[in-house]
Amino acid sequence: MPSPKSTVAFAELRERLGELDDLTQAASLAGWDEQTMMPAGGAAARGEVLATLGRLAHARLTDPALGALLEQLGAVGDLDETDSRLVAAVARDADRARRVPDRLVADIARHTAAAQVAWHAARAADDFAPFRPALERHLELRHELAACFPEASHPYDALLHAFEPDLTTAHVRTVFAQLRDGLVPLIREIAAADAAAPVPELPGPFPLDAQRVLAREVALAQGFDDEHWRLDVAVHPFAQSLGSTDVRVTSRYDEGSLTSLFGVMHEVGHGLYERQADPALARTTVGTGVSLGIHESQSRLWENLVGRSEPFWAHWHPRALELFGEDALGGRDLAAFLRAVNVVRPSLVRVEADEATYSLHVILRFELEVALMEGTLAVADLPAAWDAKTKELLGLDVPSPSLGVLQDIHWAYGELGYFPTYAIGNIVAAQLWQVIRRDLPDLNADLARGDTAALREWLREHVHRHGRLYTPAELLQRITGGPLDAQPFLDQLRAKYSALYGLR
Ligand code: ZN
Repeated sequence: MPSPKSTVAFAELRERLGELDDLTQAASLAGWDEQTMMPAGGAAARGEVLATLGRLAHARLTDPALGALLEQLGAVGDLDETDSRLVAAVARDADRARRVPDRLVADIARHTAAAQVAWHAARAADDFAPFRPALERHLELRHELAACFPEASHPYDALLHAFEPDLTTAHVRTVFAQLRDGLVPLIREIAAADAAAPVPELPGPFPLDAQRVLAREVALAQGFDDEHWRLDVAVHPFAQSLGSTDVRVTSRYDEGSLTSLFGVMHEVGHGLYERQADPALARTTVGTGVSLGIHESQSRLWENLVGRSEPFWAHWHPRALELFGEDALGGRDLAAFLRAVNVVRPSLVRVEADEATYSLHVILRFELEVALMEGTLAVADLPAAWDAKTKELLGLDVPSPSLGVLQDIHWAYGELGYFPTYAIGNIVAAQLWQVIRRDLPDLNADLARGDTAALREWLREHVHRHGRLYTPAELLQRITGGPLDAQPFLDQLRAKYSALYGLR
């Protein structure tokens, strides 16, 4: 039993966290609206609103009174396990926020606005030069940020930790080397098989109304409901929660392909993580996904491991035939359909990449970012380094900067350290899948009936309900018994493509 003193202090902590979380939700709502509903003319005013809300939240998190409360509760040590984990998680956030001076936060925000303008101009001109000084300045600012965490063994660690709290550069390097060594030969074998007998693409077209119907039906089967969710259109699809009872997902539709369906499954996967957080964590800052990599594991699991699987389509293929007709699907054959939605072909643009080549796009960016931070690569040499790595990893020539070094907006935001989380999502999804297949022997039969309840419950119990109470590494250890490991992902890809492409 906590002492009366701890009980009072903990109640005060919850009150402070409630208000801090309310500010975060208000900012999330303003951000969601900005990307879905806001007329373009509102951008400048919305920028002010978001900056103010961000400043207020930062001031509350770094408030010395909050620090004193956290210290008191941490020192007494008489809270139950959930409450003491909550205190530890908030203490880590407050420490990180306090270490970065307000002046640096403001410099970064100001420069990020300018760098985006430079990036858009560079992209429009298809020329890296206008963006170069902006990226150089970002790099200086990131070095200043890294210097706020002198205990890190690598300057890139501090950048990584903003998105993936306990991973080190050294560990990512090891795991990505394993990934690269497995993927490059696998993709080469697939390319040879594909050259010998090219997999036909789905002919289409896929009328937008029919796509919306199918996307909604699949989302409902995943756990979407009209009481707690919205599905809207956005240029860059994303998921956003305002607490666990209000989850917003977005998609965009294109008549030429079925990507929107996989996109909706992806975003609903993110949304479920938020929706299934323990209600006891509501109005705290820990009732949300623990890191971007773990979040991405949830979206990739639904998009790829469920959404591109045979049992899933055993149920949904007849419905797709009804909605789109057999000509659009290239006939009635389920096996041919599965080959088409699982086709592997190296391409230049990350967001269009398939499940197998995707992680190579991430490895390319990680290696370049680390080299930039280590000073072994100058920003001026970045375009050439990009093109060389694309050749090395994907076997492709880059025709122009907009299809190469200028394709992603992340560096305009100064967000070095973000890209690795995408590949970590693939890796973690496969590690979880290994355990899920063991724990749920009837999963294939369930999916073939369109029933995802057992899978959803497994994810709630093992991942979602914990929110941020465990660090990503602790969570992974609890579930899989080990650390981040690319082998299950590589094994699953090899098994799948061996069957689909008839590899030896
Ligand atoms: Zn995602």
